[in-house]
Amino acid sequence: MKAIGLDSQLNAKWARVRGRLRSEYGEQAYRSWLKPLTLVGHTNGEFRIAVPTRFIRDWVMQHYSDRLRQLLAGEVNEFRAVEIVVDSARAPVDAEANQPIYVQAPPAAVAELPSPGPGADDVSAPLDPRFTFENFVVGKSNELAYAAARRVAESKTVPFNPLFLYGGVGLGKTHLMHAIAWHIKKAQPERRVIYLSAEKFMYQFIRALRHKNTMAFKEQFRSVDVLMIDDVQFISGKDSTQEEFFHTFNALVDQNRQVVISADKSPSDLEGLEERMRSRLGWGLVADIHPTTYELRLGILQNKGEQLGAEIPPKVLEFLAHKILSNVRELEGALNRIVAHATLVGRPVTLETTQEVLHDLLRANDRRVTIEEIQRKVAEHFNIKISEMQSARRARAVARPRQVAMYLAKQLTSRSLPEIGRKFGGRDHTTVMHAVRKVEELRSTDSSFSEDVDLLRRMLEA
Ligand code: ADP
Ligand code: MG
Repeated sequence: MKAIGLDSQLNAKWARVRGRLRSEYGEQAYRSWLKPLTLVGHTNGEFRIAVPTRFIRDWVMQHYSDRLRQLLAGEVNEFRAVEIVVDSARAPVDAEANQPIYVQAPPAAVAELPSPGPGADDVSAPLDPRFTFENFVVGKSNELAYAAARRVAESKTVPFNPLFLYGGVGLGKTHLMHAIAWHIKKAQPERRVIYLSAEKFMYQFIRALRHKNTMAFKEQFRSVDVLMIDDVQFISGKDSTQEEFFHTFNALVDQNRQVVISADKSPSDLEGLEERMRSRLGWGLVADIHPTTYELRLGILQNKGEQLGAEIPPKVLEFLAHKILSNVRELEGALNRIVAHATLVGRPVTLETTQEVLHDLLRANDRRVTIEEIQRKVAEHFNIKISEMQSARRARAVARPRQVAMYLAKQLTSRSLPEIGRKFGGRDHTTVMHAVRKVEELRSTDSSFSEDVDLLRRMLEA
């Protein structure tokens, strides 16, 4: 991804967006899909980005355009739109590089799984040594996924099949899968485990097709005890790979081998997947990882801060936990940056330096959701008049939605409690505080209420 003939400020912004995409989606996705993007123009908030092939354009549009837009909007105040155009003149010289699915990520500084049988070495992807259960911080938003992963890892039999983990980017799906693999490797070394991304699965399969040895491809998976496939949303749409994945999946489940799948959506929401496949994926245990809560973010930061061995004032950690809501990967990145900065300049970490160093990141995380929007969406959802948000009526049918709106205002905006109170018909800050507590309490006891609130939250964040 490069920017050509543009001013240096814009270049710097583009470089930042690029860096963010790279850290959020990982090296493999970056190299395959995002690196070929070239920024070719920018006028009045409209960005023009060129890609070498239509295939890449479609893929980028489908998987990365929302995030790309968000990141550009975080960089440029007057952001309006981004247009992706195909410019075959930009096709890489290397013909292979034009086929993104053949591009493999270079192995990072990671360890290899023990060989799970003949030919399996080149199937299983390396595991990140940091991604263990010990390093995973558990909170309300991920406790089900964590417990399920532990069960699969510790059990000698197959407790549920498949285990389907889903959640947004950077919330710990890959971490949990690696943790399962590490644990089994240690506790039951005789069990054969394969972990790989769906992209790599596709790559392997297409390579086998090309070399006309799909038999060998299938053979690799036959002797496996635990198969984990990460990010299966990338399989959707590709008919032959989907078919093959489905066969492999069925064969393993029929033989009572453990299958673990991750995706960014639930089985029923996965687009471009055949119906029978979708329903089959939901047969076992489906565990979702919710967006992080403040407490979890703080816990992760404390944990990570200790690992870094750096002196970080609690105030700074709290500040970050409040401000960086997007995902854990970004949270970790922020912490690394301020620690690196402090080490470089030889000064302690303070709130001021943190704000300075993370200027760009904090701006991008500044949600543009307004309290008015929250009130409107919540009123619509509960089918009450928007004026009830300010009214003095205390009937449960209006009071509850009002509390939900206050809660969301606290979560999604940087407004203070008194400010929020004022927007709700001039209520006192203690009323807002009470609403927040009430909603939290209800969320922990009433799962359908909790789902409602999450849904609203997601709609507002989109
Ligand atoms: P996903 O696969 O869901 O996109 P990852 O598993 O790659 O996300 O997680 C992104 C980063 O955040 C990783 O470095 C991971 O270790 C870290 N992370 C995510 N959730 C947690 C958690 N609960 N505790 C500690 N680290 C976490
Ligand atoms: Mg992942």
